Amino acid sequence: MNSNKQSFFIDGEWQEPASSARIEVINATTEEVIGVVPEGREADIDRAVAAARRALQSPSWGGLSPAERSKAMLRFADAIEKRGPELARSVSMQNGMPINVADQLESGFVVAMLRYYAALAKDMVVEESRPSPMGFTSLVRREPVGVVGAIVPWNFPVALSMMKIGPALAAGCTIVLKPSPGTVLDSYILADAAEEAQLPAGVVNWVPGGRELGAYLVTHPGIDKVAFTGSTAAGRIIAQECGRLLRPVTLELGGKSAAIVLEDADLGALVQGLPTASVLNNGQACFSCTRILAPASRYDEVVEAVAGAVSALVVGDPLERTTQIGPMASAIHRDRVQGYVEKGKGEARLVAGGSKVDRERGWFVQPTVFADVDNSATIAREEIFGPVLAIIRYDGEDDAVRIANESEYGLGGTIWSTDRAHAAELARRIDTGTLGINGYMPDLNAPFGGIKASGLGRELGPESVAGYQRYKSIYQLG
Ligand code: NAD
Repeated sequence: MNSNKQSFFIDGEWQEPASSARIEVINATTEEVIGVVPEGREADIDRAVAAARRALQSPSWGGLSPAERSKAMLRFADAIEKRGPELARSVSMQNGMPINVADQLESGFVVAMLRYYAALAKDMVVEESRPSPMGFTSLVRREPVGVVGAIVPWNFPVALSMMKIGPALAAGCTIVLKPSPGTVLDSYILADAAEEAQLPAGVVNWVPGGRELGAYLVTHPGIDKVAFTGSTAAGRIIAQECGRLLRPVTLELGGKSAAIVLEDADLGALVQGLPTASVLNNGQACFSCTRILAPASRYDEVVEAVAGAVSALVVGDPLERTTQIGPMASAIHRDRVQGYVEKGKGEARLVAGGSKVDRERGWFVQPTVFADVDNSATIAREEIFGPVLAIIRYDGEDDAVRIANESEYGLGGTIWSTDRAHAAELARRIDTGTLGINGYMPDLNAPFGGIKASGLGRELGPESVAGYQRYKSIYQLG
């Protein structure tokens, strides 16, 4: 596959880029160039924002009822579904995601998400008449917040885009989306689908580029709301800019979540659920439970089970159906993750992995587990974003809750127990935005997001639509 592109999808058509700058996309497994696309410049963003503004005010989008928007969204979902296998393959080659994961989360989940928001749009009530206790009536309206500037990272490029596009379209907004330079080819497949579905011109526009282009989009005077997924460091900068501009912003940032293994846990279930809960997408998932909290009474047993499960993971070409762990998304990122593995060797006891993967090409890191990790160690505090787990001992459930909560982050988490009611009770004490019992999987119908350094606001669920709406109250006094 070699995907070379010459243009951007702006205003419902393929437009020439403002400059000759190009982004080379490299296959994470073969290290070969698999595509070259134009790199966006400020002038491209200007055109995209202007197109999105026109669409917002146009009869063909701004004038549609929510039920009519829903129909357009369903057409878009159908067009994406047709391209599902192509999308999954594209993501897998670009960032190393195992193809089974890509099929599920970058294809099936994405189509289901768009249909979910289309269904919400269909039944959306945008105006409500409320009797006032003061003797008159108020009309309370939910209006689209306007033109959205959306910025996504490279780890789940399609799903994280749809977490913004879905609720934004349901609310009646328009979008300018900036994909990460590492994963841009999938955005062209989405744009093809938008074109086939005849989404009205300017409703969704894609301009790929790096962080400077992202920064330009964030502060652009034509943007009404920013939706960002990425690192906490970038999120803090974007939050500052949006604070200065008093611009609404949603931030989905990093994590360092805890998997609490209770004394009554079924370790067979833990071993089965761990690949998804802790090392999904080669550990390149924001919600990964990379701190495993093991009870002192079963400590050795948990270490053995986790080390065994991680050592057994099949590392290889992400396009092979049997592969469970593919390469890291870039050489720089591989070096960063490998650096944490070396750091961990000085901080804790290595019980699985830790060596180089014996392959000539590809940015692989061997799945690695450290035991006897102190919660204050670097490998327990910092987000590694690779297949590297830290096992931490706890004494009693209060201690487990304390350790889980002693983190800068609060995004995911899991509790492993055969007593579901007790696990749910304990879950209420964990400072986090989402938590799974005996497994982890974000739910389309439940809000997803973090607290503390993991972010602000929520995606997924009906709640995320509110992030793309603004209220207007009309007091009917006479
Ligand atoms: P990153 O912050 O470096 O980049 C993310 C995106 O933001 C890219 O498109 C990049 O070009 C852009 N960007 C970077 N700095 C910017 C700035 N100052 N202004 C505007 N745009 C800017 O992150 P990454 O390395 O691409 O992604 C990995 C990070 O994303 C991890 O920390 C991970 O936890 C986080 N993440 C969070 C979630 C979530 O839902 N909470 C989901 C996936 C990934």
